[in-house]
Amino acid sequence: MTTDITKLGVKASWRDLTEGMVIAKAGTSKEFNTGEWSTDKPVFIEEKCKQCLLCTPVCPDSCIPVKEGKRGEFDYDHCKGCGICVKSCPFGAITMEGVE
Ligand code: SF4
Ligand code: SF4
Repeated sequence: MTTDITKLGVKASWRDLTEGMVIAKAGTSKEFNTGEWSTDKPVFIEEKCKQCLLCTPVCPDSCIPVKEGKRGEFDYDHCKGCGICVKSCPFGAITMEGVE
């Protein structure tokens, strides 16, 4: 089954998706808020951060923005909660917590 995401709507939740569903129209990943699929989310502890930027390239979903040489807050609209960023931080500035 192929579904045009513009008909489904960008606010569609995972409940609107069917098993094996194919989303038509390329380049829609930014519009589709996959972050709500996660069961855990990373938490940024800014006071522990040394701005080494080791965490930013490891995120498979590009959810750790860098502005003017400093990392910013997580993009929770697209974070899948994989926890890779936690492992990459040598200063304990990222922890995981469950999503309610
Ligand atoms: S938990 Fe995974 S998807 Fe979310 S910011 Fe960290 S590395 Fe990226
Ligand atoms: S790896 Fe840790 S200390 Fe380095 S920028 Fe990321 S959160 Fe900050």
